[in-house]
Amino acid sequence: MLAVSYDITMRKRAESREHRLTKLYQALSEINQAIVRMGQESELFPLVCRCAVDFGGMRLAFVALLDEDSGLMVPTASYGSRLDYLNGIVISSRADVAEGGGACGTALRENRTVIVSNYLQDPMTLPWREHGKDCGWNSIAAFPIPRNGKPYAVLNVYHEELNAFDREAVSLLEEMSKDISFALDNFDRETSRKAGVELLRLAASVYEASSEAMSVTDADGIILTVNPAFSKVTGYAPEEVIGRSSVILSSGHHDPAFYQAMWEEIYAEGYWQGEIWDKRKNGELYPAWLTINTIFNEDGSVYRRISLFSDVTELKKTEELIWHQANYDSLTGLPNRQMFHDRLEQEIKKSHRANLPMALLFLDLDHFKEVNDTLGHDSGDALLKEAAQRLTSCVRESDTVSRLGGDEFTIILGELDDASNIDRVTQDILKKIAAPFQLTNETAYVTVSIGITLYPEDATTVDALLKNADQAMYAAKNKGRNGYHYFTQSMQQAAQSKLLLLKDLRKALAKKQFRVYYQPIVDLHTNEIHKAEALIRWEHPERGLIGPVDFISLAEETGLIIDIGEWVFQQAIEQVGVWRKTHHAGFQISVNKSPVQFHSKTDKRPSWTMHLDTLALPGQSIVVEITEGLLLSTGSIVTNRLQEFHEAGIQVSLDDFGTGYSSLSYLNKFDIDYLKIDQSFVRNLAPGSSNMALCEAIIVMAHKLGMKVIAEGVETIQQRDLLVMAGCDYGQGFLYSQPVPAEKFEALLNQQKPTAQPLLA
Ligand code: C2E
Ligand code: MG
Ligand code: MG
Repeated sequence: MLAVSYDITMRKRAESREHRLTKLYQALSEINQAIVRMGQESELFPLVCRCAVDFGGMRLAFVALLDEDSGLMVPTASYGSRLDYLNGIVISSRADVAEGGGACGTALRENRTVIVSNYLQDPMTLPWREHGKDCGWNSIAAFPIPRNGKPYAVLNVYHEELNAFDREAVSLLEEMSKDISFALDNFDRETSRKAGVELLRLAASVYEASSEAMSVTDADGIILTVNPAFSKVTGYAPEEVIGRSSVILSSGHHDPAFYQAMWEEIYAEGYWQGEIWDKRKNGELYPAWLTINTIFNEDGSVYRRISLFSDVTELKKTEELIWHQANYDSLTGLPNRQMFHDRLEQEIKKSHRANLPMALLFLDLDHFKEVNDTLGHDSGDALLKEAAQRLTSCVRESDTVSRLGGDEFTIILGELDDASNIDRVTQDILKKIAAPFQLTNETAYVTVSIGITLYPEDATTVDALLKNADQAMYAAKNKGRNGYHYFTQSMQQAAQSKLLLLKDLRKALAKKQFRVYYQPIVDLHTNEIHKAEALIRWEHPERGLIGPVDFISLAEETGLIIDIGEWVFQQAIEQVGVWRKTHHAGFQISVNKSPVQFHSKTDKRPSWTMHLDTLALPGQSIVVEITEGLLLSTGSIVTNRLQEFHEAGIQVSLDDFGTGYSSLSYLNKFDIDYLKIDQSFVRNLAPGSSNMALCEAIIVMAHKLGMKVIAEGVETIQQRDLLVMAGCDYGQGFLYSQPVPAEKFEALLNQQKPTAQPLLA
């Protein structure tokens, strides 16, 4: 009986075991089929749990996923009875906390199956035991499900029986977990394969559509494939280059050292990038921006080299254009100020190295403003262009001619082995610039004033050299223009003392340091003096009496001339009022008026006619002396003021006639009463001389135009006699008197007699 019942029990057990195993096998096969059919990863875990319960005979199954951030194991899928067991359950993956010491955490960490055969006794279950007891658990098992070799999830199964897991069950559940793990890996592989395919497709379309030329060569530089942009840039169809060496693109533009350096870098780094000149199929060279990359085999040998390049011809053109605009003068095409500075710096270095001097010339066209004002800006521009060409033709290729702006030019004569070259070049320039400029409708004449400074003799820096040359140029202007002047140490001192003088000049008027001297203008027919010219003097407390030549231009540059000129005028009208009473009712005083005074827009003071009115003097008391340059000014200011004088009866004298622009047509356009022949013509007056002829011509012409003529600088009787013979109306000069203070002038008037002797020395 016992044996029978034992036998029955054994058989029953064997049957139930077989039943369970059958179910587990069923579960496994179910899962495997599902895996094969499965489209989505998310369906996998619920299925596993269901199979473990429905076919594996488990009461509860759940999959816990590792949350990398918190280290917690989070149940994601579950199936079976007592699902409430999972509510609020805390499972950790960490070994240092109690919740990490259970079957699930251990299985994950150690990547092994963990079996708990007696749930209520095993220390592993401690944190959850109370709750588990409620649910009736007696054995549990945990199976790791790694993903791509890393801890990922754990399948947990729960059973009501003690020792529920025998070897077969365990190995089947292990098998199941492994299959899931394999399935997950497969998912990942598939995803990345798909991504890879997509990437390849993308790469291929980029390759095809890119505007950047691409070619792939093997390790020996044999072209394997090219893209359409390659053909567009190089002119080669794919079949013409595939299988050939990439050397066919080389232009030969670079020297061997260039290619050697490039290849050394490619061999060392696998990479090169830079600008390179290549050759198209039609032989044309072009600049390309090229990048070469290398793909290596696993053993480090070269698999492929990929070249990417684009034709940068247009880009370079724009870059060059921008560079050109920044460095060259757009009108003349000469280097501009910026470029000039760079060149001068370079030339200084070169000269220093070669131990040879260098010259810097500063050029300023004389009377260019007048051409611009009278003939218009287009003509002015044409003249500047032509002048630039003439200047360039005077120097060597290696010398630099620049335009600093306006009518200012510079020339660098570098590395001079013979200083006499400077004179030769300068003479050549003066001659070439003085030649007539044939403009569209007109012929224009200009000259040039040149300042010269030497490196290293005068200065060694860019700024100092430029300042020197500029000063020297002014010296050339002061010498009478159309000439040149070397910079000297004394010029530098002069420039400094000019600054000091200016400081004093600003205070001179307030300190009452100016005086007005008068010089008689003698009627050559009667020898009578009914006219005088007012000439300013500056009584400087330390320097003594300073003549106007030394400060008028300074006063003009600074605008001080406006106040000074006004003061002279005031003195002159007060004086003329006196002499009209004491000496002659028709007495006249000439006052010099600077062009700056005419052009001043800020001059809001009452006009000269109003001043005369206040003193009850007629306009005829005053003659305004102007210079030829003033008449060339365009605009209405000058014309209006001259007109105003004319209407008020104030006469106008054209001073220094013959030294300026001397355009005869202008004499007729304005109401001029007197022409003053410049003293340079009178100085060399001799019978039959060309100056004699000129004076005669001027006098005849002036008379024809209704003007009287005053000869300036009459120093000798011979000069006076020749002028009288030529029909000149008035004479002014040391022969009669120097300019003198008013009291002395009165003495002169009082002793006035018709005589050929000097009236006052
Ligand atoms: P300018 O108007 O042509 O005046 C004639 C200059 O010739 C005066 O020089 C006079 O002293 C000088 N001179 C007269 N007779 C002879 C002679 O026989 N031989 C020589 N060698 N020279 C003679 P100054 O006084 O030195 O004046 C020079 C210039 O300064 C004037 O030339 C005039 O342009 C300017 N200036 C003088 N006073 C004034 C003024 O109040 N205002 C303005 N804006 N300029 C003035
Ligand atoms: Mg004068
Ligand atoms: Mg004069």
